[in-house]
Amino acid sequence: MNQINTMELTSSQKDIGTAVELLRRGCIVGFPTETVYGLAADATNPKAVRRIFAAKGRPSSNPLIVHLADIENASDHVELGYVARMLGEHFWPGPLTLVLPAKPSTTVCREATAGAPTLAVRIPAHDVALELIGCLGRPIVAPSANISGRVSPTCASHVRLDLGGRIDAVIDGNSCPHGLESTIVEIIGDGVAVLRDGAIPRTQLASVAGTLLRNPLRPAAAPGQLASHYAPSTRLRLDASTGQHGEVWLGFGSEATGADFNLSELADINEAAHNFYGMLRAADQKAASKSYQIIAISVIPQTGLGRAINDRLRRAAHDNAAL
Ligand code: AMP
Ligand code: MG
Repeated sequence: MNQINTMELTSSQKDIGTAVELLRRGCIVGFPTETVYGLAADATNPKAVRRIFAAKGRPSSNPLIVHLADIENASDHVELGYVARMLGEHFWPGPLTLVLPAKPSTTVCREATAGAPTLAVRIPAHDVALELIGCLGRPIVAPSANISGRVSPTCASHVRLDLGGRIDAVIDGNSCPHGLESTIVEIIGDGVAVLRDGAIPRTQLASVAGTLLRNPLRPAAAPGQLASHYAPSTRLRLDASTGQHGEVWLGFGSEATGADFNLSELADINEAAHNFYGMLRAADQKAASKSYQIIAISVIPQTGLGRAINDRLRRAAHDNAAL
């Protein structure tokens, strides 16, 4: 892939205007959301969408999430039944992605959905993201702005490191409030099936979906949920009680005294989620600089966002499970 000059933009009105102009011309732009940094393209432009797959090295069989301005805008593209509308009205704008039947009239191109009859849609709760979509006046596809399979980006410098020279611009809008990807659910019949744990914990979903949140009628499998994903270069040792000599230790809670990094000294799982990807990247860098082979990671409780963090850790450690 030829190197291109990646413009550095701020979240000023003028720079967002520049980003919108770039998107209109089929360019691809990194931008902040409340989950992680996304890589945006005009969802109606097949050439632009193909550039996203190429820049990330993402398999073309892995469909993209479509980001929209509001719930009425969503209903232009997907069949919003009663359950979807209830969830959307409660959680949008916010980090919930709904997989729904695509309307035949949708302008989202086939490249974005990998040919699936469904569309994954959400409305991001971030001013920059909403302004981009609103000013463009078209849906935006946005996977995370990192090399496919590697650690997700939660600030603009992560995007520049991973994709600088491969994308047209990145908007710096500070660090992402949640720090974890959206929760993805599919509505199957009247049932709500979680395809990917994420920034909305199951307890919050259950408080709205109630008994609808149950085992799906058929096993729900999301395309592209790969066994190995979110991986740093250094091998991981999970559920570590302490870091050993020659390891970088990523701790959690007040007992992790002496840890190189602590996701949350107060054992606050939301703070841990916010810090997770940034500290995983920092631990990876520290391991490389000291020629250490392993990052040891403390036990993360399975409560609240802990479930999503543990899902990412298991996938990140997939290729070194034998440790
Ligand atoms: P990300 O890679 O974080 O952008 O998340 C995209 C994920 O959303 C994909 O890997 C799929 O698992 C899921 N997804 C997107 N579109 C669909 C769809 N039409 N049906 C089922 N899952 C989808
Ligand atoms: Mg991703």
